[in-house]
Amino acid sequence: MSDTGRKSQEHPDHSGHAHSRAHACQPLGDVVIAVEGGRFGYGGHSSASVARLEIRSGEVIALLGANGSGKTTLMKGFLGLVDRIEGKVELFGEPVERLQDRSAIGYLPQRQSAAGPIPVTVNELVRSGRLTRRNPLGLGRDDGAVQAAIAVVGLTASARKRVSTLSGGQQRRALLARALVGGSQLLLLDEPFAGVDQANQEAIADALDGLLHNGLTLVVVLHELGPLEPLITRVIVMDHGTIRFDGPIEQAPPELLHMGHDHDPHGGPEPTQGIGLVG
Ligand code: ADP
Repeated sequence: MSDTGRKSQEHPDHSGHAHSRAHACQPLGDVVIAVEGGRFGYGGHSSASVARLEIRSGEVIALLGANGSGKTTLMKGFLGLVDRIEGKVELFGEPVERLQDRSAIGYLPQRQSAAGPIPVTVNELVRSGRLTRRNPLGLGRDDGAVQAAIAVVGLTASARKRVSTLSGGQQRRALLARALVGGSQLLLLDEPFAGVDQANQEAIADALDGLLHNGLTLVVVLHELGPLEPLITRVIVMDHGTIRFDGPIEQAPPELLHMGHDHDPHGGPEPTQGIGLVG
């Protein structure tokens, strides 16, 4: 896939932006996600289509839009988790269907129960995020990272509890800690703040800010920009299954940044608890 016409060249220097969290824009690197002529959906019916999209390392992208506009479908399309009706997707320069090593990718699905059939503690669940190909047995240098990730989502006091005994919101935070702990180069988070209180949202935003300085690429489905706003370099706004806006956050029409609120046909955020595993 060629590099011509890439979106990232249009990104301005954000240094003049009035941010509470002083985030230095990372230099943009290689193409991490590339989609060409992609149509994604279910049972042959397209729910999200993209003519062309490139996401480069160091970008922090908010995927916005009303409920049902195709955000989750597009994110799953990046990962090869929904039907690809047409087009090409490359992750790290490899066709997604041929990508062998997914250890560089962390994914927090929108709806996922953390309480599986095997009883595990929060510690164990989060530690499982370290069991990558690079560190298959999770040996050594892990405990600090596991404890730090648990602290970031505000679950230190519950670290030894069984996940099945936690509330839905706490389970979601445990899953987020597991996504954060893997040392991923690409993090895809689908509504990471659902069920997370304001203080923990701020803590998670701070943690993500710290990770960004290590070259992380972040794509986040958000209902509202919230505490991540200072980190976001680019927004992609979905509308009825197509991209309505894609560009630097400063150039996004304000009404589009709040579409999740103003045009929400269901009148609120989607439920996040007890719905079970998604593919
Ligand atoms: P968003 O994340 O913006 O809320 P989604 O990507 O979840 O939107 O949904 C986009 C469209 O795809 C909606 O019309 C929705 O009904 C449809 N859709 C989502 N998941 C499924 C599914 N598992 N099977 C069939 N249609 C689905």
